[in-house]
Amino acid sequence: MIRLPSPPAPADGDAAAQWVRSHLGDLCCDTATASPAFVGGQAAADRALSEFDVRGYAAGRNEVWPATRRAASKLSPYIRHGLLPLPLVWEHVESGPGRDVDKFREELLWQEYARHLYARVGAGNARPLRYEPQSTGVESVSDLPDMACLRMVTAELESDGWLVNQARMWFASHWTVRNGWDWRRGEDYFFRHLLDGSRAANRLGWQWTAGMATGRPYGFSQYQVRTRAPGLCSTCQLQSRCPIGSRPEPAPLDPVPEVIVGPVSDEHAMAIAGPHRTISTTTPEAVWVTAESIGAADPAVLANPALPVVFVFDEPMLRRLRLSGKRLVFLAQCLADLATWRDLEVWRGDPVEVLAGRALAATHTPVPGWRRRSARLLLAQVHPWPWLVTPDSGSLASFSTWRRRLQTVQPRRARR
Ligand SMILES: Cc1cc2nc3c(=O)[nH]c(=O)nc-3n(C[C@H](O)[C@H](O)[C@H](O)COP(=O)(O)OP(=O)(O)OC[C@H]3O[C@@H](n4cnc5c(N)ncnc54)[C@H](O)[C@@H]3O)c2cc1C
Repeated sequence: MIRLPSPPAPADGDAAAQWVRSHLGDLCCDTATASPAFVGGQAAADRALSEFDVRGYAAGRNEVWPATRRAASKLSPYIRHGLLPLPLVWEHVESGPGRDVDKFREELLWQEYARHLYARVGAGNARPLRYEPQSTGVESVSDLPDMACLRMVTAELESDGWLVNQARMWFASHWTVRNGWDWRRGEDYFFRHLLDGSRAANRLGWQWTAGMATGRPYGFSQYQVRTRAPGLCSTCQLQSRCPIGSRPEPAPLDPVPEVIVGPVSDEHAMAIAGPHRTISTTTPEAVWVTAESIGAADPAVLANPALPVVFVFDEPMLRRLRLSGKRLVFLAQCLADLATWRDLEVWRGDPVEVLAGRALAATHTPVPGWRRRSARLLLAQVHPWPWLVTPDSGSLASFSTWRRRLQTVQPRRARR
C-alpha cells in the first residue's frame, strides 16, 4: 500500500490527468486524460445542478445530435458518485412544468430501481434477469460497420465518457439485437469508459435494451437516427446502402429457468436497505469514503466535520477492471475538491489492508463490494444511505411493477 499526495486542483484537467498517469497509470486501459465535457468535484456538481433547468426535458431528453438539441441534464456522473444524492436532485426540479418534472423524476426512479436491484441480487444482475438471449460469436468494437451514427457514439464515449440515453440504446441494440453479440462484452466496454458507469444502471440498461428484462427487445434502425439526429445520415459514407435501413429481426428470447428478482424476506430487505438512523459503537477516528459517495453530501462526512477523510484507490479491483483513465481523472478531481475543505488521505492498495485497525465512520452503501469490505473493517459509526425510496421486500421483476407499488414518493429531506 502507498499513501499518495492529494491530487491537484479540480479545474485543472491536465494536472489531474498527470497525477493519475504518475500514480495510477499502470491500472488504466489507456493513457489518462480528462474528459473535455465534465469536471469532477463537489463545486462542479453543485454548479451543474444549479444550472439545470428541467423545462423542455420531456420533449428533448431523447435528442442525440447535434448536441445543442439535447435536453438531458448531464448530471449522471455526479449522481453516480453521490455528489448529488437523488433526493436533492428530486427536490431541485420541484417548481418546473408538471410534464417535465414528472418525466425527469421518472428517470430518477429508474436509477433508484437499478440500485435496488443491484443491492438485492449483486452480481446476479450480470445474468439475464427474465429472458435469455442467444449470442453468436464475434464481438468487438472494431467489427462494427463504419456508420456515422455508431462512430459518433464510440467517439463521444471514448472521449467524453458520457452518452445520452438514446445513444446508449442505439449502440446496445445494434450490439445485441441486430448482431446477437454477447451483451456482457458490450456492457464492459461501456463500463470502462462511462463516467457514470455503474454495474447497477449499466447492466439494467443493457438488459432492458436487449429484452432480457421485459422480453421485448428495443430495435434500432435508421429511422431513429433520422428522427433524433437529423442530418447525421448525410455525413455517412454508407448513407445510400445503410446496413440498418430496416428494423432488426430479433432472435427469440427464452424465459430464464430461475428468476432471481422475486420477493425476499423482510429481514433480507432490511439488511439491503441498511440502518434508518446512525448506528454508533465507538468513537471514530476517520471517515471512509468510496467512489459511491465522494462529496459533501455523504452522511458520514457531514456528521464528522472534524475528522480526516480517507479514500483508497482499490488496487486489486482497478487492476482487474482496467478502466479508462478519464474515470480515474474524474475521481481525482473529486478528491482534489474534497481536499480544499477537509483533511484528506488518499491511498493506493487493498482498502481492507489500508484501513485495518482504524475506527471508521462510513455511510452504508448498497453495493456488494462495500458490503464485503466493510464486513472486515472496524466500523465505529454507520450512517444511513440517502435512498429516494427505501427498499422493500416485494418483487423487482419489472420497473413497472415496482413503480406501481410506490404510492407517492416522499424522499427524506436531502441534507447539505
Ligand atoms: C445500455 C445503457 C447503459 C446505461 N448505463 C448507465 C450507467 O452505467 N450509469 C447510469 O447512471 N445510467 C446508465 N444508463 C441510463 C441512462 O442512459 C443515463 O443515466 C443517462 O443517459 C445519463 O444522462 P443524464 O444525466 O443526462 O440523464 P437524464 O435524462 O437527465 O436523467 C436524469 C438522471 O436520471 C437517471 N436516469 C435517467 N435515465 C435512466 C435509466 N434509463 N436508467 C437508470 N437511471 C436513469 C440518471 O441518474 C440521470 O442522471 C444506461 C442506459 C442504457 C440504455
